[in-house]
Amino acid sequence: MVRDFTNDHSALALNTATLGHNVEGAGMGWPVERVIDACAARGLGGIVFWRREIGSRAVEIGDRVRAAGLQMAGLCRTPFLVGPLAPVAVMDEFYGSIDMAAGLGAPVLTIVVGGVEPGTKGMGDSLKIVAERVAEAAPYAAARGVQLALEPLNPVYGGNRSCLVTVRDAVDLLEVIGAPNVGVAVDVYHVWWDTDLAAQLQRAKGRILGYHLCDWLADTQEVLLDRGMMGDGVADLRGIRAAVEAAGYQGLCEAEIFSAGNWWRRDPGEVLDTLVTRFRAVC
Ligand code: ZN
Repeated sequence: MVRDFTNDHSALALNTATLGHNVEGAGMGWPVERVIDACAARGLGGIVFWRREIGSRAVEIGDRVRAAGLQMAGLCRTPFLVGPLAPVAVMDEFYGSIDMAAGLGAPVLTIVVGGVEPGTKGMGDSLKIVAERVAEAAPYAAARGVQLALEPLNPVYGGNRSCLVTVRDAVDLLEVIGAPNVGVAVDVYHVWWDTDLAAQLQRAKGRILGYHLCDWLADTQEVLLDRGMMGDGVADLRGIRAAVEAAGYQGLCEAEIFSAGNWWRRDPGEVLDTLVTRFRAVC
């Protein structure tokens, strides 16, 4: 049975990317506390922050979220682990992001793996490096109560942001890594096109650690910051959620809408109200 959200949005979580706060100079600049209170006032179930919002205040912000009655659902995200955008001190920064998730009390840290390693071609060599680096960090995360969620990105990001572009490859990677606290995050933006999604999610049964909501606009202008609000695009949101839940996922559904030209220009209160309405109506 797929969960019925028609009259219940307690499973809706805000990923603060939806308010633009993960990008310098974007969004309305609400302080973290105001975002927490606005989510709590609307009865959302949880919240996911980005590292740049947390700084050195992880413990304080995690406590603040729980005191407001919300789940501190997760943290976005690790540094890129491979590829042209990976930092020089990649493992130090990876461990630092795990420490931040632990400080927040966030059970899940999302991994965006990074693109094709300079000097190599195709995905294979880069995926091997990802497997090694995640396997190395997984016990450190486990000791701190943090699960690591590999998020395959839409293939449009294959060059610089993600050598991991299908749920199929993500599950293959889980099998190579072999760590019990590593799973997969499923994001509508990245998987909506995949006609093999339901079958691949069955392979990930019990290892889905997150489900991210938005929509794919039929006339997408730009692939990074032009995501659609749920219901405004062509993704089969109900079908994707049915496949995710059939693979055992019963957790929060995290609205994550990068939208520099539209939703980030609106009042965050209006954006949150719209999330609630659309979550009940079309998700
Ligand atoms: Zn996502």
